[in-house]
Amino acid sequence: MQTLEKMYSMGHEQVVFFQDKTCGLKAIVAIHDTTLGPALGGTRMWPYATEDEALIDVLRLSKGMTYKAAVSGLNLGGGKAVIIGDPRKDKSEALFRAFGRFIESLNGRYITAEDVNINVDDVEHIFAETNFVTGVAQAYGGSGNPAPYTALGVFRGIEAAATKAYGSRSLTGKTITIQGVGAVGFELTKLLTEVGANIIYTDINERNIQKMRESFPTAKFVEAKEIFGVNCDIYSPCALGASINDETIPQLKCKIVAGAANNQLKEDRHGLILKERGIIYAPDYLINAGGVMNVSIEFEGWADSKSRRMVDTIYDKTLEIFRISDEQNIPVNKAADVMAENRILSIRNIKNSYLGKTNHRIPGQKRRN
Ligand code: NAD
Repeated sequence: MQTLEKMYSMGHEQVVFFQDKTCGLKAIVAIHDTTLGPALGGTRMWPYATEDEALIDVLRLSKGMTYKAAVSGLNLGGGKAVIIGDPRKDKSEALFRAFGRFIESLNGRYITAEDVNINVDDVEHIFAETNFVTGVAQAYGGSGNPAPYTALGVFRGIEAAATKAYGSRSLTGKTITIQGVGAVGFELTKLLTEVGANIIYTDINERNIQKMRESFPTAKFVEAKEIFGVNCDIYSPCALGASINDETIPQLKCKIVAGAANNQLKEDRHGLILKERGIIYAPDYLINAGGVMNVSIEFEGWADSKSRRMVDTIYDKTLEIFRISDEQNIPVNKAADVMAENRILSIRNIKNSYLGKTNHRIPGQKRRN
């Protein structure tokens, strides 16, 4: 399939290819939809085997950002960037500054941030060339590490799911299994233990397991393949995507699935299977939106209290999605899409009327042909 055809089939507005031979930069920026505002989404650096692989990734990820921003109530569109290269060998100041200059040339239609293999030091180089970047270090007036805010959003999403399942948002005494105790899983454990929940966790990284043992001695470790079958109230996927699939669903003994990982359902149909089994699924791209909410307020001056207030809204938004899911008898993942699409459409519609601001006849100025 050709690039324009791919863009058309997924509804993208713009895809831009950049290269700078002097530093070896090869990058693609995809802007999916800017109805709600400038397209925001991180930059991922990956040694893609082919250009096609990179293009498909950036198209898919940018579309996901449109839905995440829309459902989160942000005045932002969806975009994403990929840099084709090996993060262990190809990173340099020049590469990120060249990338920053290209981002600048998009004039604010796309705002970037960290994603896989891009850290706050790389962002600092991008920031040297453009203001259209978020996730900047707090020392430079940015919002710094997003993980605590992502974890807070996941915590609010879990509370909403508990309200639906048990009639109370309290998590005291509930048993929660966490798959992956990296940046977000660790912060989530902090919040859950503070309210008296019992934690059972797994990970495959010895350093992260050791950190958990030292910080939360009462939390219980299980091997990675055992986590799905543990008797618990809530299963929280905080590692990689696709952990809800044909193999794992029959093992689940929980009432709720709610975690930070992106694309938790291997396929859309797994949302329906969860619904049929009476397992409440909190929509991943909403409840993990705390990080993007946090960076979104960098432009108006970041403050911890502002960020927390915004992230707290995930509780009500999750309940609203459960309501749509019940009302329309559709799986929660579909209900989240409906809520996002309805918001984009309604805002697109109000933009139909002419605002009277167009300066097509400024006195004394010649009309341009
Ligand atoms: P991370 O890399 O810090 O942590 C992931 C952890 O999962 C690691 O400790 C890793 O060892 C572990 N892991 C990987 N595969 C595993 C497996 N099969 N079984 C058990 N453990 C496994 O990443 P993170 O920043 O904590 O993000 C976690 C998830 O949340 C990711 O899917 C990410 O895309 C998503 N997310 C993160 C943020 C954020 O702010 N960091 C925001 C939105 C979404």
